[in-house]
Order: sequence, then structure tokens, then C-alpha cells
Amino acid sequence: MRAVDHESPVSLHRLPVPGEDRYASLDLVNTRFTVSHGQVDLLDGTEAAHLWLVRRGLLPDRVVLNGRQSGRLRALREALRTLFAARAGGTRPPADALDTLNTALAAAPATPRLAWGADGPRRDDLPDSGNPAAAVLSQLAEDATDLLTGTDAAQLTECAAQGCTRWFLRSHGARRWCTTQCGNRVRAARAYAARKAGSP
Ligand SMILES: [Zn+2]
Repeated sequence: MRAVDHESPVSLHRLPVPGEDRYASLDLVNTRFTVSHGQVDLLDGTEAAHLWLVRRGLLPDRVVLNGRQSGRLRALREALRTLFAARAGGTRPPADALDTLNTALAAAPATPRLAWGADGPRRDDLPDSGNPAAAVLSQLAEDATDLLTGTDAAQLTECAAQGCTRWFLRSHGARRWCTTQCGNRVRAARAYAARKAGSP
């Protein structure tokens, strides 16, 4: 058996957050989070952004990402965070967040297409292959648009653990933490505070 690799990226140690498997846009928002020893940004730099897109299956490894494109990806992430907060809070978002999303939607939209397989008709949009980096922005923006306008939007929740800042889809009304990791962290902190308060 191999020893645990303590040098492996932080991303490998984080538990999956409910909803990220269905919405790439939720996964994008959660590429910036806090762990016990500080802030983590999985898109910190062009190479890191490229790696994240490849790992998520959004971009072929051979497609090069430039600094401007990775900057746009980070800008889209911040806009989505603002839009998610507005949706959850029942407020109107600032116009620039909406503009950023709409610009990404228009960057290289997929061509709508109807496919017909053995199990019947299904929608199977064709991404813009001429501009894969812009197409990925459009795809993520469209995913976020689907999330924000669909029935799942009512489940959008920001993790209540202090400093976590991740978003998830609540599976039941009472759920407040993105992962059991966050829930355990909050419970441990409460137990510690209670013990301290009880000691003479
Ligand atoms: Zn959390």
C-alpha cells in the first residue's frame, strides 16, 4: 500500500459538494474556498485554470488557454457568485454581474441540435469547435442560466460554516453545510466554546 501523499493538491482532499456533479457552474463558483490554513483558489493562474477545465472535462488538454481567457473565467466565477447570492437573497443583482454572464453566453454559443437515439429524441447541442476557450465560457454561463431559472434554484444555498463560502444544492430544508467536513468543523468549534465557557 502506498503512503498518503501529503503533497497532492488540496482539491483531491475536498469532499464533493451536493449539486456540483450536475452543474459545472456550481463547481466553478466553488473553485475558491477556505480551508483551515487559508484561502484556496483552484483557478489561481492560467495553468491552474487550464488544469481545472481539463479535469472537469470541459476543455481538451491540447487546447491552450491564454491569460485573457483565464481572467474571463475568473470574472465569470465572481459574477456567478454575485448572481447566486442575489437569487438566494431574493434581491436584484448589480448590472455588471448580469452583463458578465450575458457576455459569456454570447461568446461562442452552442448550436441547438436534436438527436434521435434508441431511447428517443434528446437535445444534444453542438459546441462551437472553432473557439473552444470561448465555447467553454458560453457553456458554463448557460449551465448557470439553467440553474438560476430552473426548479433547482430554490435549493441554492451558501454554506453556513464560517469562512467556507462554498455554494451547494440543499437536499433537504434543514441542511446548512456544504459537506460533513464543514458540519463537523462547526460542531467541534461549538463543543470547544461550550467547554471553555463551562471551565472555571
Ligand atoms: Zn462548507
